[in-house]
This record gives sequence, structure tokens and C-alpha cells, in this order.
Amino acid sequence: MLADKDRIFTNVYGFQPWNLEAARKRGDWDNTKKLLEIAPDDIIQTMKDSGLRGRGGAGFPTGMKWSFMPKEPKPGKPNFLVINADESEPGSCKDREIIRHDPHKLIEGALVAGFAMRARAAYIYIRGEYIREAETMYAALDEAYAAGLIGKNACGSGYDFDVFLCRGAGAYICGEETAMLESLEGKKGQPRLKPPFPAGAGLYGCPTTVNNVESIAVAPTILRRGAAWFSSFGAENNRGTKLFQISGHVNKPCVVEEAMSIPFRQLIEEHCGGIRGGWDNLLAVIPGGSSVPLVPAAQIIDAPMDFDGLRALGSGLGTAAIIVMDKSTDIVRAISRLSYFYKHESCGQCTPCREGTGWMWRVMERLREGNAEVEEIDMLQEVTKQVEGHTICALGDAAAWPIQGLIRHFRPELERRIAAKNGGAAPLAVAAE
Ligand code: NAD
Ligand code: SF4
Repeated sequence: MLADKDRIFTNVYGFQPWNLEAARKRGDWDNTKKLLEIAPDDIIQTMKDSGLRGRGGAGFPTGMKWSFMPKEPKPGKPNFLVINADESEPGSCKDREIIRHDPHKLIEGALVAGFAMRARAAYIYIRGEYIREAETMYAALDEAYAAGLIGKNACGSGYDFDVFLCRGAGAYICGEETAMLESLEGKKGQPRLKPPFPAGAGLYGCPTTVNNVESIAVAPTILRRGAAWFSSFGAENNRGTKLFQISGHVNKPCVVEEAMSIPFRQLIEEHCGGIRGGWDNLLAVIPGGSSVPLVPAAQIIDAPMDFDGLRALGSGLGTAAIIVMDKSTDIVRAISRLSYFYKHESCGQCTPCREGTGWMWRVMERLREGNAEVEEIDMLQEVTKQVEGHTICALGDAAAWPIQGLIRHFRPELERRIAAKNGGAAPLAVAAE
């Protein structure tokens, strides 16, 4: 178990107040001016050396992303930092805890990240449904401005840096970074084609980096404790500590900070009190939020919870939102429900996603009822392949992958339902590999 002294988020459950006074006692805003005396490129190098990979789901190396920003912004084209707090991935709820209970960690992180990237300002784009969290964030920003920590001459460093909070209106797609930029500009939140990536042309056409809340909030601690400390956790290429969010059929669902690469069984035993009904009752796990394929019980139990270990199993770490399903789960219904979610949230810009998500959901519903032909399982698989990789943004992939995982691991269950509906033999147990 991660030692308390190695936790970055020491107030994740809100046992202490979130306010500035309490945040200072926890070590935030401790001589931040000194951090702003480090050369921006050296800050970026420290982030690279730490091995931090983006915590929003894609796992892109954070220091490398920061290094794409122009070192000398052109007149009239300021650099911007955008912080993605539009946490909407089913299963994900870690950024909410940071904003609720540790908002100053995020504001201080925005300041040092913005300084390293020569940014004029940061925009925090927060999910519209996070109403109380937005209230906390507004109040924390007021405190930081009043104390001179941000704004003109932030922390007495001579550097001017503003932080704005913008509230979304409930569209999942606005969490996609370029849809977020469109939304911030006051337009309909629809993803842009990439490239250009935001560092080349982002907010208002200016160089922009979009980072997840957790990626930014850990930056001050990494700078204070050093890259070597952070990279001492986790396996090669999967470094640091990480907030895991465990929901579903465990005895004690929770959000907890742990070392990357912790084995699944250890994570569940030490923090969640085990699987409901015991380990034999585990059916499958979605390990990274709804956009990644499920992994059957036998494969996940000893798997390291990190980007590479889960990719080797045909899945991914994503946001580390771990959805645990025991044998009481109707697995076809669960995946069909996710298909409905993606159909509902598609922005409709590209045909494979707009048409494909609705098509996949309708077939999934028929498979749930067993009201389909066996050949349609392969046809559905083929359609997911036509959607995957053929769309403007990752929502198309995210809609395809859970279905592919279901077919890969639970085809016998799909066939059983069809056979049962047609009066054929219906084996009793689901055959998960
Ligand atoms: P992506 O791999 O396209 O990009 C990741 C980041 O790296 C982006 O900021 C992108 O600009 C940058 N990048 C990638 N290649 C680059 C290049 N060649 N040059 C410069 N920059 C480059 O992934 P994405 O579409 O941003 O995110 C997909 C992930 O989002 C999924 O894996 C999913 O887990 C996650 N997700 C999270 C939530 C949530 O609520 N946190 C919601 C939906 C999806
Ligand atoms: Fe919109 Fe879907 Fe295309 Fe993304 S993949 S741009 S959500 S239609």
C-alpha cells in the first residue's frame, strides 16, 4: 500500500477543509515563488524526467506535450493553458474529488504549468453538472486572487497569470480537447480535425495545451519532491502515483491514490474490501472508464493496473475508472447501455459515428433479447471495425471497443441468448475466458 508520506492528494476524502488556510497547512502554495524562479525549460525537463503521462485517459507524456508550446509567443498570439475538468467518462470521478477537496492544488498547478509554457492565462472548463464543485472552484480562485497568488505579479514573481473558470452545458463530447476549444470560443462543441494539434492552433487560433485536472494538480509536488521521487513508483514507462476510481461490485467502492502498476487483486483487497461475494464471483472488469474494452476475470486478477499492462490484455488504463462486475451482471445489457450512451453523445459530425453508433446500439438491443441471427454477431463486429479509426475524434473508437470486447470474451453468451429465444439448448453458465 502506498505510504501516507507518498500521497500527493492528502485530502481526497475532504476530511479537512478545502480552503487556502488548510491547503497551506497541507503544503500547497509553499514558497511557490521559488518554483517560478526555475527556468521554464527546466520545469518542462523535470516533468519529462518524472515520466508523468496524461491522466485524462490517453496517457500522452505530459512534459513532451508542454514542450510543443512556442518558447517566444508572437505578439497578439498568446499561449494558453486549458484544463480539462469536463469529467464525463462513465466510471470517472477523480477530478471531481480534486476540485471539491483540493482546489488549490489545481490552481497552483495551473500557475506553474502556465509559467513553464509561457502561457498568459489558464481556462478551467468544468463539467456543467459539477455545480457544487464549480462553486468551490470560484471561491478558491477568489482566495488565490485576494492573496496575490495568481493575477498580476503572481506570488511576487513578476509573472502575470489569470485563471478563468468556464462551465460546460452537459455535452460529453466537450471533453474532447478540440470540441472544448470550440465550446470555449462560444461555438457548438464539435471536435476539430487533428492535426493541427492545439499547440499549433488552439484556443482562438493561439498555441494551447489542454491537460487533465490530475495531470496539472500533481505538477507542483513533482517540482518540489523531484522527478526521481515521482518516477520511483510504477513500472517502466508507467510512472508515478495515480488516482484510481473503483465502482461496481466491490465491498467498498472508493477513489484512492496508489502507485501505478499495482496489481488489480492487491488494489481491490487493500482498498475495496474485496469483490462482493468473493473472487470466484467476479465476472469481468472495465478497467479504464467506459471507452476501453472489458477484461474477463481470469485475465484481470493479476494484471498490473497501468497503460502497458492493460494494453497487453487488449484494453487500457484510460482514466483508471475501474468498473467491477460480478456474476449477477447482465453483461450484454451493460454493454448495450454503454452503446446507447455513445449514440446519445455522438455530435453527429461524421457519418460512421452518427449512423454507426445508432446501428450498433439497435443490434446490441436485439442481441440482449436474443432476437437476432447468429450471423449478426460477426456483422456487428465488422461494423465496429468500420467505425473504429474512421472518425474525426475518439468517440467513434470508444463506441466500438466495448462491443468488440464483449464479442471477444462473451460470444458464447450472445449465442446462448439467440439459441434460447429460438427454443434451442441454453447452457447455464456464461463462458468467459
Ligand atoms: P489522443 O491520443 O488523440 O491525444 C492525447 C493528447 O496528446 C492530446 O492532448 C493531443 O493533442 C496530444 N497529441 C497526440 N498526438 C500528438 C502529436 N502527434 N502531436 C502533438 N500532440 C499530440 O487522445 P484524446 O482523443 O485526446 O483522448 C482520448 C482518451 O480520452 C481516451 O483514451 C479516453 O480514455 C479519454 N476520455 C476521458 C474522459 C474523461 O472524462 N476524463 C472522457 C472521454 C474520454
Ligand atoms: Fe462527432 Fe462522433 Fe465524429 Fe467525434 S466521432 S466528431 S463525436 S460524429
